[in-house]
Amino acid sequence: MGPGRLIVVATPIGNLGDLSPRAAEALRTADVVAAEDTRRTGRLLAHIGVDTPLVSYHEHNEAARTEALLDRVEQGETVALVSDAGTPGISDPGYRLVRAAAERGAAVEAIPGPVAAVQALVLSGLPTDRFAVEGFLPRKATLRSRRLAELSGDTRTLVFYVAPHRAEADLDAMATALGPDRRAALARELTKLHEQVIRGSLEELRRVAAEGIRGEVTVVVAGASSATVSTDVEDDELAARVRELIAAGTAKKAAIADVAVAAGVPKRRVYQAVLDTS
Ligand code: SAM
Repeated sequence: MGPGRLIVVATPIGNLGDLSPRAAEALRTADVVAAEDTRRTGRLLAHIGVDTPLVSYHEHNEAARTEALLDRVEQGETVALVSDAGTPGISDPGYRLVRAAAERGAAVEAIPGPVAAVQALVLSGLPTDRFAVEGFLPRKATLRSRRLAELSGDTRTLVFYVAPHRAEADLDAMATALGPDRRAALARELTKLHEQVIRGSLEELRRVAAEGIRGEVTVVVAGASSATVSTDVEDDELAARVRELIAAGTAKKAAIADVAVAAGVPKRRVYQAVLDTS
């Protein structure tokens, strides 16, 4: 048996036609496929007529399974890693296995393919020269507001993965922290039959989300421009943003700090604005 290797294999984010011939060949010739959800990947393998054995590899058994998979690589086997959709490692398990393989001196390859963030970015019509994939926002309202406050001055285009049942809360928080007029795009069910891209302001997308969204959703938001990080924001706007954060569960002091960072103004001015308008 020749030297073993780990192959990170990208799979479709919806349309099975996006599985590349190289990816199919890697799945067919691997000794084992490590998959987030073995049933789901089993259906993909059945679709291409492949019966390579599957083992589960997901965020809850990642640490325990890593060593066993790499032992197999050391014994000369080829291990293919896939996730539920798209490219493993991108908001999915993967990087720990790659790191551990590299540390053991094992050969690692990656077969490129779909990434929902890149697909959404390309369709958004927003600048693509510099972007950041932010993955999922924290679930907890206070942590989410804080993360967005940190990002509010970032001039790169921002890409967020969004769980459909949290779309309204996430877009609400984005509109509050980044400003309702920020340009954005909501990309839904990419590469699938009901693919849809809605482009508009964060406020417009917030309203769309409030009506209920189904399917897989990725949101792309324009980076801060010099206009959106300027200090000419009105006092009543600052006070309103603080009240929205407090209503979402943020402590008053933290809300004032977050709004000050987001607007690029001193905390004492936000504090005064809250006092003046209460
Ligand atoms: N590794 C994947 C990739 O390369 O795109 C991302 C995995 S992450 C756990 C799943 C999230 O990706 C979904 O909640 C959604 O935000 C986004 N996503 C996946 N498929 C999508 C699609 N077809 N259309 C829009 N967004 C999608």
